[in-house]
Amino acid sequence: MMKVQHEPPTPFELFGVDAGKGWRPLIEPIYQRIQQLNAEGANIEVSQIKEKFGMLRIYVHNAPDEIHEMILGAERQSIHICEDCGEPAKRVVGEHKWIYTLCPKCLEKRGIKVIETIEEANTRRG
Ligand SMILES: [Zn+2]
Repeated sequence: MMKVQHEPPTPFELFGVDAGKGWRPLIEPIYQRIQQLNAEGANIEVSQIKEKFGMLRIYVHNAPDEIHEMILGAERQSIHICEDCGEPAKRVVGEHKWIYTLCPKCLEKRGIKVIETIEEANTRRG
């Protein structure tokens, strides 16, 4: 279900970020730094920002190490932050083995039945 919004589109919306709002605070500083570097003559391209296996993924081209380090940090943090609302969350496995990082409230809102946490899944596998 989509909530209709009447605010002007943010750079994220214009850009087409395929991840929930809860992760925006992770993406924003990276996006701003990229814009800053590009204004100074860099040619960094953001090819994709999305959720994959319950983790934020940011794909860039022509980026310096500094940006790659920022991205790595954000991706690592994302597995502890609810993708939808930004509250603390755990990575969980739902039906059909889909992986989400959502807080209990947002899991319920999306109607996701949790099978186990990632930790449980990893323990079982190991
Ligand atoms: Zn949430």
